[in-house]
Amino acid sequence: MAEVKYIFVTGGVTSSLGKGILSASLAKLLQSRGYSVTIQKLDPYINVDPGTLNPYEHGECFVTIDGAETDLDLGHYERFLNSPTTQANNVTTGRIYQTVIEKERRGDYLGKTVQVIPHITDEIKRRIKLVASGNRFDIVITEIGGTVGDIESLPYIESVRQLKWEMGPQNCIVIHLTLVPYLSATGESKTKPTQHSVKDLLEEGIQPDVLVLRTQKSLTKDVKRKVALFCNVDEGAVVETVDVSTIYEVPVNMLSEKLDQTVLRKLSLPEKEEPALTEWREFLSRIKHPKYSVKIGLVGKYVELPDAYKSISESFIHAGSVNECKVHVEYIHSEEISESNYAEKLKGLDGILVAPGFGSRGIDGKILAARFARENNVPYFGICLGMQCAVIEFARNVLGLEGAHSTEIDHKTKHPVIDLMEEQKSIVDKGGTMRLGVYKCIIGKNSRVYDAYHKTEILERHRHRYEFNDRYLDDFRKNGMMPVGINPESNLVEIMEIADHKWFVGVQFHPEYSSTVVRPHPLFVGFVKACLHK
Ligand code: GLN
Repeated sequence: MAEVKYIFVTGGVTSSLGKGILSASLAKLLQSRGYSVTIQKLDPYINVDPGTLNPYEHGECFVTIDGAETDLDLGHYERFLNSPTTQANNVTTGRIYQTVIEKERRGDYLGKTVQVIPHITDEIKRRIKLVASGNRFDIVITEIGGTVGDIESLPYIESVRQLKWEMGPQNCIVIHLTLVPYLSATGESKTKPTQHSVKDLLEEGIQPDVLVLRTQKSLTKDVKRKVALFCNVDEGAVVETVDVSTIYEVPVNMLSEKLDQTVLRKLSLPEKEEPALTEWREFLSRIKHPKYSVKIGLVGKYVELPDAYKSISESFIHAGSVNECKVHVEYIHSEEISESNYAEKLKGLDGILVAPGFGSRGIDGKILAARFARENNVPYFGICLGMQCAVIEFARNVLGLEGAHSTEIDHKTKHPVIDLMEEQKSIVDKGGTMRLGVYKCIIGKNSRVYDAYHKTEILERHRHRYEFNDRYLDDFRKNGMMPVGINPESNLVEIMEIADHKWFVGVQFHPEYSSTVVRPHPLFVGFVKACLHK
């Protein structure tokens, strides 16, 4: 097996330029050429993982099959590459320090002063190499979070500098993504911020090998040549990435910019076959030229920041493509839905999705949304807390269990239809202690979900502490809300469905984490289809 090659992606000038999408797009092209590629994200914050972060901070928390709570960029990696990531694919400064401090307490460094260099940088390098262990990958792309020049990312950049020196230029390259702003007043694209950002990188000891310039307007040859000259990069290694209407266009654009060929040349790797991207292009064409359209209300409490529901909105794009349909997602704030306005607020939607979430804020609006969908035969998809809200609503308004609730919200409720899982009762620490990752679920054949999956055994990812309370199961069954998905080991109710309804499905798991471009999630596909036929 040949040596693993490493590509680092850094960012300059400003954040939010799309390092994650760039990394995923490059990986997609290399994968299409026949290389096995994985992508890792190094995050500069001190939280051990993003599981304890409010989604307003960095957007959604993504969950891997092995139960790691990670940055949302891992979602993009999986959606583009159609292959799963694991805990090793996301490392934070907090996790690095935690490991080093644990080692120090064990006495592993006995006698030594523990320092950023070499101890922290060694641990960073170990984590970078760890993702490639087991010879599973030809190429590892590591995205460094933050912007070059930030205090927080210094140890990461230093580690990359050392790795570049240790491995040699043909085994390790740096791609730097920057912004070239366009000044409409003078009609010019300005390269100065890029020059300064490369200077910052040089000051930290790194000469970038490839520059990717994010721009609003296509750049002239002269502008690219100027950047190449002043930043000491060969002309062919300056690539532009022009703003696009969908992130799924980026791989195709990077292919025409020959980013993959440039990278392979720098890494002394053969080009192998030209990426055809057939399935990808078909998908793109379907999402760009939809025949139909639906309007789906996404009810949640973080709607001010759509990144909080990234995997859900991407899953809708994938599911839309299968149904040749544009899914317009209307973000509806659950705190703005009340007893007096819910019918007005929710009318005209082809379907309603109640989002995952934690805590009491906005819960009444979510319960009302479930009620509206049930009473008006509007397709309903409840994910995790969205499933729990549907259960609470059904208990109160169909079973007549007044005040029924989840003990997460009302721990004194007379009817705890959603209750803390037994194994959660002794847990005090908040970080990484939920029921996380993939669990099996057995599906009953006579159900909407079976019609979607066409199989009886599924594996889905989880992130929750509360569950359906089995004590009430008979009552629900008799009244038409059916447990059509059950975990075979623990008997935990995974899926609830209303039999006598167009499409009313609540799932305790998170289907949105496993929808990809070439494998859209069956439940999203089924839900969108039900909304279309309304
Ligand atoms: N707060 C709920 C629980 O912990 C739902 C979690 C979620 O929606 N991810 O069970």
